[in-house]
Amino acid sequence: MATEVDVVVVGAGFAGLRALHTLRGRGYRVAVLEAGDGIGGVWHWNRYPGARCDVRSHDYSYGFDPDLEQEWRWTERYATQPEILRYIDHVVERFDLARDVHLRTRVTRMVFADDGWDVETSAGTWRARFVVMATGQLSIPKDPELPGQDRYRGTVLHTARWPREGVDLTGQRVGVIGTGSSGTQLVPVVAEQAAHLTVFQRTPNFSIPATNAPVDDEEDAAVKAVYRERREAARNSPTGLSFPVVRQSALEVTPEERRRHYDEQWPTTGFGFLLSYRDLMLDERANDTVADYVRERIAAKVTKPELLPHLLPQGYPFGAKRPPVDSGYFETFNRDDVELVDVRDTPVTGFTERGLQTAEREIELDVVVFATGFDAMTGALLKPEIVGRDGQTLREAWAAGPRTYLGLQVAGFPNMFLVAGPGSPSLLSNVLLSIEQHVDWIADLLDAAAARGAGVVQVTPEAESGWVAHVNERAEATLYPRARSYYMGDDVPGKPRVFTPYVGGVRGYKRILERVVADDYDGFTMTASAR
Ligand code: FAD
Ligand code: NAP
Repeated sequence: MATEVDVVVVGAGFAGLRALHTLRGRGYRVAVLEAGDGIGGVWHWNRYPGARCDVRSHDYSYGFDPDLEQEWRWTERYATQPEILRYIDHVVERFDLARDVHLRTRVTRMVFADDGWDVETSAGTWRARFVVMATGQLSIPKDPELPGQDRYRGTVLHTARWPREGVDLTGQRVGVIGTGSSGTQLVPVVAEQAAHLTVFQRTPNFSIPATNAPVDDEEDAAVKAVYRERREAARNSPTGLSFPVVRQSALEVTPEERRRHYDEQWPTTGFGFLLSYRDLMLDERANDTVADYVRERIAAKVTKPELLPHLLPQGYPFGAKRPPVDSGYFETFNRDDVELVDVRDTPVTGFTERGLQTAEREIELDVVVFATGFDAMTGALLKPEIVGRDGQTLREAWAAGPRTYLGLQVAGFPNMFLVAGPGSPSLLSNVLLSIEQHVDWIADLLDAAAARGAGVVQVTPEAESGWVAHVNERAEATLYPRARSYYMGDDVPGKPRVFTPYVGGVRGYKRILERVVADDYDGFTMTASAR
């Protein structure tokens, strides 16, 4: 017997919890189904040392409740994973969310039938009229697929499957494969603990300093005095960050002015450094100015000149791969007990019993950490088998890359909604803000359908095709496609090379959503039945 609810929400991260709170508040019976054994999504899984947010804590937090934001006290500008998880636990308790969350319940198959969804899981079947896929952008970790792992006698870890109880790396010989955001956060912390650290790098990264610091009472009070305004400004900003928007081109100022501006921005903006000028991701010459600046900054941190050809990012625009925000990453290579292996020159060929074999030698390691990222954006949506209205699966519908209308729905999959997924600002934004925007919008849409007596909400194929064309057109006008990145589907061999998030910006996207509502939910149909 299936358990019946109005809405099944898949995933208990920031998105699933927000969906539960909002939809329950509007009178829907909601069940959240979560594969993991704990609540928190990304912040439950990614417990590696050094994990923290790269959007300021005051902004990387829920904005829906003025009391919640006033009462929570962040201790650091960029909170650590344990602190973010404590915040999530606080939210769960404050809004009594746990009673509708079903842990260890992985959704394996979903079939649209009789105007609703049959949801098969590892722990029983559910029946719901609507499904909200809050499955995350970065929730399917990816291993580097090195041969011989079974014969390796040491420990293998992935940053996104870090053991709850932690790992003592004191005195260990550790290897870290991957230098994205996770690797760059992990490396300086591991270097402090390990006897020796080997970093296996494929693509050097443009990393920006986090300039983390404790939040003192004065700073906290200053944010809280204008928190509502700050949130509203973020909702109307390009990326959902609370930085003043720079409307100048990098090319319309003198080199001296530009330098001064970069010098001011560098120590204070973190991820927002990307917004130093309006055209950094639009114009190659503008991007060159910032890329040169970042390379110069990196070079100034590294005391071993022989490492610079390996550590300095070249050949792709700054920002076209998501830049990490680090705390002492490059300086770590100045240590004598830290070694860099550039796998472009010296590939890792596989595991041995004692460590990793490269094209040149065996490197003995007690622990190998995969910081190799995720099957990003589409991975979690394509893992379960999702069968839509006409028996078509989502895998079939997305064979040439993800297709959505507004990033919210897929044609042929009625009553299924995506949160901060492909075709929306998602990972190009403060994701938490984008999550909240989507959840509110979906809740309004369900209410609008109910008010019309409609039980089925779907998008037209024409609206979807128009949106896909718009997403591609906007991306083509930027420098993003010029790097190999997970934005472009380069994270997994064989994935279609399609730009996945929407580059139109948080504010621009918000205006589009508002226009769709004003036009009587243009592109959506609301009917009594799917037929
Ligand atoms: P998740 O937190 O990924 O939650 C999805 C949940 O769905 C997971 O718990 C997963 O187990 C579950 N799930 C997936 N498939 C199934 C299934 N079939 N059945 C049942 N359950 C399933 N973004 C920012 O804007 N700023 C940051 O500073 C930032 N830092 C990050 C740091 C790390 C280490 C990572 C990995 C990501 C970070 N992100 C950041 C992006 C992050 O993805 C979002 O900010 C946000 O946490 C996503 O929340 P979510 O609820 O959408 O997804
Ligand atoms: P990622 O950015 O995809 O980085 C993965 C790294 O592993 C890259 O350096 C990649 O090299 C390397 N790699 C992958 N396969 C490899 C292989 N077979 N051999 C050698 N190297 C390999 O993943 P991530 O670092 O986990 O970050 C993912 C996203 O999560 C971030 O962009 C960000 O959105 C979010 N995140 C945020 C924070 C934060 O600061 N708050 C922290 C962690 C994660 P290539 O570049 O050559 O592919």
